[in-house]
Amino acid sequence: MVFNEKIVDPAELRHVEGKIELYWVYTSGEAGDAFFKKLKDEGKFIAARCKKCGHVYFPPRIYCEFDFGETEFVEVSGKGCVKAFAVANYDTYEKKLEKPEIYAIIEMDGTDGSIVHLLGEVEPEDVEIGMKVEPVLKPKEEREGRITDILYFKPVS
Ligand SMILES: [Zn+2]
Repeated sequence: MVFNEKIVDPAELRHVEGKIELYWVYTSGEAGDAFFKKLKDEGKFIAARCKKCGHVYFPPRIYCEFDFGETEFVEVSGKGCVKAFAVANYDTYEKKLEKPEIYAIIEMDGTDGSIVHLLGEVEPEDVEIGMKVEPVLKPKEEREGRITDILYFKPVS
């Protein structure tokens, strides 16, 4: 079924049988493209610093949401610290996982932002708020310019 009709009168709404095909393209924007290209090609992280107020955005933005100031990309280490975390013992289908997964909000060093990602090479009982972590990336030849190019974050040794 191709869903190409446009309803303007709510009284015309009706029940549709079968599947509705959905198609979309997500664009990460200029700043997102720069971030993923840097991650894929060089295995490095960038943020964006506002030229007016100095706020450092991670993920990067092309303008400041506080003063609409222009930003400039700045390289950051990719290291950070755990701000919050949760341990998942079941997947989204309520199937018990072989090994618990640890999801964390990680405040990125040198920025005012954070990222949500997996923690690895650490057991749930050993994770602490404020723990320093660093990214573990896929090998360069396997990177696709996606957030999954970051396998997980591990404790800084
Ligand atoms: Zn600003």
